[in-house]
Amino acid sequence: MSWTNYHGHCKFCDGHGQIEEYIQQAIKNNMKAIGISCHAPVPFDCFWTMKPDDVDDYLQQIQELKLKYQSNIHVYTSLEIDYIPGITGPDHPILSDINLDYKIGSIHFVDKFKNGTPWPIDGSFDEFTKGLDEIYNGDIKTVVQRFFQLNREMINTQSFDIIGHFDKIKMHNVTKPLFDENADWYLREVNDTLDCIASRNIIVEINTKSYERNGLLFPGVELFPKLLEKEISVTINSDAHYPDKLEIGYEYVAGELRKAGFKTLKEFVNGNWTDVEFNKYGLLW
Ligand SMILES: [Zn+2]
Ligand SMILES: [Zn+2]
Repeated sequence: MSWTNYHGHCKFCDGHGQIEEYIQQAIKNNMKAIGISCHAPVPFDCFWTMKPDDVDDYLQQIQELKLKYQSNIHVYTSLEIDYIPGITGPDHPILSDINLDYKIGSIHFVDKFKNGTPWPIDGSFDEFTKGLDEIYNGDIKTVVQRFFQLNREMINTQSFDIIGHFDKIKMHNVTKPLFDENADWYLREVNDTLDCIASRNIIVEINTKSYERNGLLFPGVELFPKLLEKEISVTINSDAHYPDKLEIGYEYVAGELRKAGFKTLKEFVNGNWTDVEFNKYGLLW
C-alpha cells in the first residue's frame, strides 16, 4: 500500500530538512509520488516564504532529484502560492512564468496592519489577536467572513489545482473559542466557498498538518459528507514541515473519507489529476 503527498515544505522556506531528505523519507514510506511545494516568494518581508533569489536554485534542485530518483518515485515541482489582492497570486506574472507541475493556492494573509504589512492569520495566537484588534476592532465574524471571501475571490479569479487548507481560520479556536463553527453564518461561508470550489473543479486537500498536535484537520471530518454531496474531488496532504511527518493522520483521514462514502482520491498521474481508488491503508493502484 502506498500514499502520496503534494503539499510539503523544506529548507527553502519554513520547512526543516533538505528536499532530498523528504524524497528519501517518501521512498522509505513506499510513497508513489511527492510534490515539493514551498511557500512562493511574496514582495514584502516575510520570514516563512522563499526568497525570490532562491527560486532558480529550488527549481534546479528538484529537477536534479526528479532524475536521480526517477526509478523510485515521482517527484513534482510545485509552490504554495498566496493570493493577496493586487499584490500576488497564482496568476501573478512573476509566478506564472515558473514552470510548475501543479499549483496550490492558499490564503494566509487577511488585509494589513496599520503599518502596511499584510496580516498573516495562521501564525501565533498573539499575532492573530493583534490583527483582530488592530484591523478589525475585535470583530471576529467580519475577519472570518473576509477570510472566506478572499478564498472565493482566489478561486474565481486565479488558476490553480489544489486549494490549501480552505478553512484554516478556525485554527485559533483550539487556543480559545473565538466563534461558533456551527453558527448559521459560519456554515453559510463554508457552503458558499465549497460551491465556488465545485464550480471551478478545484481539488480540496484534507490537510493533516495539525492532526498530531491538536487533532485538527482542514477541513474537518464533519465536512466530508458535504464535499461528497457537492462532488468535490479530494486528496490527502500532510503539509509536512519535517520529513518524518509526511504521512501524519493519513490512515485516520482515509478511514473517515471511506465512511463518508468517498471511493477515490485525486492523484497526479502522468501530468493529469486522476481518480484513484483507496482504502484506509493506501491507494489501490
Ligand atoms: Zn499554507
Ligand atoms: Zn503549506
